Amino acid sequence: MKLTVLVDNNTLIDDEISFFGEPALSYYIEDGDAKVLFDTGYSDIFLKNAALRGVNLKNLTHVVLSHGHNDHTNGLAHLWQAVDTKDVTLITHPLAFRPKALPTGDIGAPYTEEEAARHMKLQLSREPVAITERLLYLGEIPRTNDFENKEPLGRIRLDNSWEDDFLPDDSALAYRGKNGLYIITGCSHCGICNIVEYTRTLTGVRKICGIIGGFHLLQEDRRLERTIDYLEENTDCALYPCHCVSLAAKFAMARRLPVREVGVGMQFIME
Ligand SMILES: [Zn+2]
Ligand SMILES: [Zn+2]
Repeated sequence: MKLTVLVDNNTLIDDEISFFGEPALSYYIEDGDAKVLFDTGYSDIFLKNAALRGVNLKNLTHVVLSHGHNDHTNGLAHLWQAVDTKDVTLITHPLAFRPKALPTGDIGAPYTEEEAARHMKLQLSREPVAITERLLYLGEIPRTNDFENKEPLGRIRLDNSWEDDFLPDDSALAYRGKNGLYIITGCSHCGICNIVEYTRTLTGVRKICGIIGGFHLLQEDRRLERTIDYLEENTDCALYPCHCVSLAAKFAMARRLPVREVGVGMQFIME
């Protein structure tokens, strides 16, 4: 499996190509015949960066949206303009298209489920979905520990009322490699440790070979401390926390964990 970073907050200064960055996330994943776009960023820069990196998005088989926030979903409307997506399967949680808002404004997907269904084949699922034999969309993540996902982030429109949003739609991908699991996250609003535990339960594999994506660690607080404890105990691989991880959180992690940098254009082979 090969993963290419199409959008991240960070671009690397020593790359021979100058990519575009924005505070958002999008990865392109190839696993055999499956060509998967995982999240779409905030604008159309994933299309520009894909062209610069030589990634052809015309042959996509799947788009996976990790959750409904617009820094992961906005770009999809640009994909509809750029390529024919009517045979592409869109996998996400059934609540990912619901309106979401902060006091400062809307932060949900800028289109409805019906609009998305006009452009793509929708596969909405709370359950895990096997994209290939080894690549798995995890579906709704059980919140099993007492330190993650304790605070809502804005509000979500459910049927006729606005409720605190604990991001039930937030999910991730897992890849079952030869020697263990790779985990690929959007924002980890549901908690990176909850994601790791659920992936282990689903697959029966305990060894973690790598984690890349947003870990949603911004403050130096109990969640960060407990996450570092958990990752130290449960992983012995390189970690690539990015997108929604603050510098302070990266510093704190790097004191005890092998934290690596992420930038647009980077490519990873996961075996
Ligand atoms: Zn988010
Ligand atoms: Zn995000």
